[in-house]
Amino acid sequence: MTRPFLGQGDSPGSAPLSWVPVRHGKIYCAPGCGAGCTWAAYQRAEREARALARRLGKGWRPVVFENKGWSLHVVSPCKRIGVSPNRNVTGPHSYSALFGDRDDHGTAGLWFGRGATPEAAALAVIKIVKAATVNLPRIKPHRAARAGRKG
Ligand SMILES: [Zn+2]
Repeated sequence: MTRPFLGQGDSPGSAPLSWVPVRHGKIYCAPGCGAGCTWAAYQRAEREARALARRLGKGWRPVVFENKGWSLHVVSPCKRIGVSPNRNVTGPHSYSALFGDRDDHGTAGLWFGRGATPEAAALAVIKIVKAATVNLPRIKPHRAARAGRKG
């Protein structure tokens, strides 16, 4: 995976450091991250991501990634919705959902929803997308485009 930003251990002008995590005892962290992420946090994120994917149903895919700590989200079967927990010290307190292109794999989107549960967050973003796409203007192709299609 390519990263558009420099990792903590990178310096401008040098080759970017690897984002492949390396295990050293309790630490499981990529040189590009450099935040000292832990193996325990990685395992927790993996468990939570799998549970969240199971909860949302068939075809939801768990994704665990590192960026100054282990994070997670799950991607919808259509690959357009990503749902992630918003957490504080006691654990998830709400969920966020992003709706974007399939190529984003749930990591980006123009539309954002939030809910107390992962289902509520996903439904919130779907509701926003539906509301944003009703009553769109009808646009006729330009004459030249129509002529080009015929000929
Ligand atoms: Zn790390």
